[in-house]
Amino acid sequence: MEKRYVYSFGEGLAEATADMKDLLGGKGASLAEMVSLGISVPPGFTITTEAYRLFFDSGNRLPHKLWAEILEHLGKLEDRLGKKFGNASHPLLVSVRSGARVSMPGMMDTVLNLGLNAETTQGLGRQTDNTRFALDCHRRFIAMFGNVALGIDSLKFETLLAQKKKRLNIQFDNDLTPQNLESIIRQFRALIIKNIDQEFPDTPTAQLKQAVQAVFLSWNTPRAVAYRKLNHIPDDWGTAVTVQAMVFGNMGPSSATGVAFTRNPATGEKKFYGEYLMNAQGEDVVAGIRTPHPIALLETEMPDAYHSLAGVYQKLENHYLDMQDLEFTIENGHLYMLQTRTGKRTVSAAIKIALDMVQEGVISKQEALMRIPADQMDQVFHPMIDPKAKVKTLTKGLGASPGAATGKIVFTPERAQELAGKKERVILVRMETSPEDFHGMSVSQGILTARGGMTSHAAVVARSMGKPCVSGCADLDVNVKKKKGSLNGTPIKELETITLDGTTGQVILGTVPLIRPRHTSNITRMMSWAREIRTLQVRANADTPHDAFVARDFGAQGIGLCRTEHMFFEADRILLMRKMILTDDAKKQAETLKKLLPIQRGDFTHIFKVMEGLPVTIRLLDPPLHEFLPNTTKEIKILARDMKLSQTALVKKIVSMRETNPMLGLRGCRLGIVFPEIYRMQVRAIIEAASKLVRKGVKVYPEIMIPLVGHVNEFKTVRDEIVAVAEEVIKKAEVKLSYKIGTMIELPRAAITADEIAREADFFSFGTNDLTQTTFGLSRDDAGSFLADYLENGVLEKDPFVTIDQTGVGSLVKIAAQKGRAVNPDLHLGVCGEHGGDPASIEFFHTLGLDYVSCSPYRVPTAILSAAQASIKHR
Ligand code: ADP
Ligand code: MG
Ligand code: MG
Repeated sequence: MEKRYVYSFGEGLAEATADMKDLLGGKGASLAEMVSLGISVPPGFTITTEAYRLFFDSGNRLPHKLWAEILEHLGKLEDRLGKKFGNASHPLLVSVRSGARVSMPGMMDTVLNLGLNAETTQGLGRQTDNTRFALDCHRRFIAMFGNVALGIDSLKFETLLAQKKKRLNIQFDNDLTPQNLESIIRQFRALIIKNIDQEFPDTPTAQLKQAVQAVFLSWNTPRAVAYRKLNHIPDDWGTAVTVQAMVFGNMGPSSATGVAFTRNPATGEKKFYGEYLMNAQGEDVVAGIRTPHPIALLETEMPDAYHSLAGVYQKLENHYLDMQDLEFTIENGHLYMLQTRTGKRTVSAAIKIALDMVQEGVISKQEALMRIPADQMDQVFHPMIDPKAKVKTLTKGLGASPGAATGKIVFTPERAQELAGKKERVILVRMETSPEDFHGMSVSQGILTARGGMTSHAAVVARSMGKPCVSGCADLDVNVKKKKGSLNGTPIKELETITLDGTTGQVILGTVPLIRPRHTSNITRMMSWAREIRTLQVRANADTPHDAFVARDFGAQGIGLCRTEHMFFEADRILLMRKMILTDDAKKQAETLKKLLPIQRGDFTHIFKVMEGLPVTIRLLDPPLHEFLPNTTKEIKILARDMKLSQTALVKKIVSMRETNPMLGLRGCRLGIVFPEIYRMQVRAIIEAASKLVRKGVKVYPEIMIPLVGHVNEFKTVRDEIVAVAEEVIKKAEVKLSYKIGTMIELPRAAITADEIAREADFFSFGTNDLTQTTFGLSRDDAGSFLADYLENGVLEKDPFVTIDQTGVGSLVKIAAQKGRAVNPDLHLGVCGEHGGDPASIEFFHTLGLDYVSCSPYRVPTAILSAAQASIKHR
């Protein structure tokens, strides 16, 4: 049999079913499915996505045979309806609709009322005894066809219409008289001639051919292409085209068009939800031409149609077992369904609907968990822009850390601190941030940066603090000195109010109403199911007692990474740190460390207390030395005075310590080996804090982690130091305290020689951020200039700093896990890179059989849910 490219549906005939989405697009498949369910759907036919590919391969032309097949189905449609294309007394009018496998709302094009010309418009008017209606259809058709098929900017038609209404002092489209409409049609036709130097095509089959081609072509409009990129939809899927007999919601006061959801898509409430407009067509409801009525009103305005609709929506939900998004039209009191699809919803709605459906006995717990978008879980807890608010977006960057925040613009962390001290809400706006900005970031409501991606310093820190961040905002420019800048050409200055949405990347000038979602009983219940099912444990990366508290509250089972460097960046401590590094005098060094010891001990005591009963992995100091060196002349001056050195001498010393490539320089355990005093002090602080708490009966489980080990001897050297100090402290404190010593695996050499290291270590924690950098040999801070390009051009499919590169970096993790466990079956394995909060990466780590992932506190729910989903998927 020859391959077929067209499938008919309607009036009891359904040549396709819901599972043929790939071929017919979501729209075409669901229309056919609704017909099978006995729901009233205007008849028509769908041209397949394979036909699209044929069209595309034929140089964007409809091959003769395909066109013949379309005409054949058109003929059948005419016969079934007793109407004919171009027939003056019984004209057939159709819509030509786009529809991909997955819905791409509003991204492609649709033409309505196709088949109209002067005669058929007259005929339609006579047939319905409603000239106004027929003319209304005609003017809509010319504008839509003119835009979609003839490529004329729809704004031109809209402007003409608006001018007309203004001249006539008319507010709504449906107040236009037949004469007004006739005049508009004339103007529209003239507009077309003016723009394309051609008459409007008046032969219906010619219209159809052009419209089908245009809808196929709309698969490649820039906005559709952009949408696909954003949503990882392959370009070669193509769109199907559905040609469907028109039904008219604009026929008069007993007609209407509307959209509805079987449950509330914002809250999940089990209540039919929707809007409709009397005497209107197509997108009028969403286009905001008139204010639509809430669906409840339909019950009184058109009770029969309402009851049919209520029957249909229940039928559809029972059939699809999920919340549906519907389009319907009521023509002279008769209800027609035009679309059903799985409704998009907020995360909180997704949770509520899934839980309710379990309660209703519709789906299983597992199915419910699978339906919740894990990567969006954190949205539930962040403030967001009130979806009801109308906002004007100034520009967009990357939504790097979710949630929204409003505050006054500041350009320096110092100013942020100063104003925050006066209880002002500030937004830190920088070209980029560095660890030294930390104090300013921590007091800001949100962070906006020009440079950097989803894993830039600003983004990582913001996420770990649960603060909104928009990064990579290319059209931001900042002049710190002048305390001003510009955003997408709009000047901004210090103290001006700005709003960020770190979920969507939107930047808005001024205040926008924000709402705060709450930790509902639904979330608690859902998370408890997730916990029962997952096998992978979830810890958090937390550097402060507050982070630890949040993490625990969200259900973290420990701390997988407590970075100690932030502790040194606070104002008074960094001075001590700098003195220690820059002095050659061992005595002075010892003195400084002595001052740092109680501070560190205090830090750990707090965290251990918050995490009582759970493991806390503390990483010894890791960052490159230069991050501690003073930068500004002011800082140098202060330090020189403090150290009783001349500024020149100090600068000389600083310069001598600069490295060409600090990332590959004196950092991590190398620093610990060269300056053992620092690690000794840290271990002392950890073990003293722990011992003290143990004495008080607090259960503490310290795990000391050595960063950047590449060779087993590095590990052994540092471990021996650690053991010596720890044993001394424990002995002196006379307590029973067990602790673990392990390492980060973040260098390829460490992964490959994991067996050697595992013989000496209690645990491995995969530092997948650095492991990605070192495996790819690329610095995340410098990747900005080409990574975006790589992703754009498909050189890399996904950002390897967001989702783990399974074949490369992932293989190293796999090798290290296998080699490590082979020699040390008790070896505990975790992940502490950012990937520990990414659903796709978590699934991968689950399949490797790791023990836990660790992520920023606000990602903990995401990670727990992802772990559960991975368990369900790989059962
Ligand atoms: P989108 O995919 O952008 O939603 P649609 O193809 O669904 O585009 O159509 C746009 C609008 O036109 C929708 O409101 C739809 O209900 C309406 N529409 C489409 N086909 C018909 C038809 N045959 N009769 C009446 N209205 C229609
Ligand atoms: Mg639609
Ligand atoms: Mg590292």
